Amino acid sequence: MFINCGGFMPGSCVNGPGRRAVVWVQGCPLRCPGCFNRDLWSFRPRHVVHVKELAERILGLPDIEGVTFSGGEPFCQARALAILGQVLQDAGLTIVTYSGYPRGTLARTRRESWRALLAVTDLLVAGPFLAHKRSGGPLGGSSNQELVFLTPRLAGRDVEGRASEEVEFVISPGGEVTATGFPARGCILSRSPAWKGGA
Ligand code: SF4
Repeated sequence: MFINCGGFMPGSCVNGPGRRAVVWVQGCPLRCPGCFNRDLWSFRPRHVVHVKELAERILGLPDIEGVTFSGGEPFCQARALAILGQVLQDAGLTIVTYSGYPRGTLARTRRESWRALLAVTDLLVAGPFLAHKRSGGPLGGSSNQELVFLTPRLAGRDVEGRASEEVEFVISPGGEVTATGFPARGCILSRSPAWKGGA
């Protein structure tokens, strides 16, 4: 099983509680006006990696407490992410999953792959980016996006009290600068980080 990735960051502090690796998947059909990640809309193969390889890479990282699946639209690659998420959860990591689909749509789904991804998600950030509601609460680009704790594992963490509009800049040993987070006048998530890059 393979995942088409748009980017990867080995350590981020603004994409969920604590320090987390971030996997940005490639491909999103939702096309929210004002999306900051338009380069992740296309479903063309970008960095296609086997689930096992990605799991090993993540499990080899020091000092992370979890992984965030972002995009792009993670539920378009739900089956592979569910497998990855299960491996990582079994190893003690927590899973945050972003989606542009509203909470109700995800909750009512009968798609087995979507339900499998939800089953390994500890915290779901659900809803499309809406430019006229930008700069909302923590961990989101617009105020309509809902934080849904699907398990107790991340409940009560430093989420609700987090400042909105957090942005993080990471400089790799090679000098590449990656920006990620939720800028007030941007919208959601990140400039696509280099697959091989990161701190
Ligand atoms: S904001 Fe998210 S859900 Fe909306 S088009 Fe961009 S990547 Fe897709």
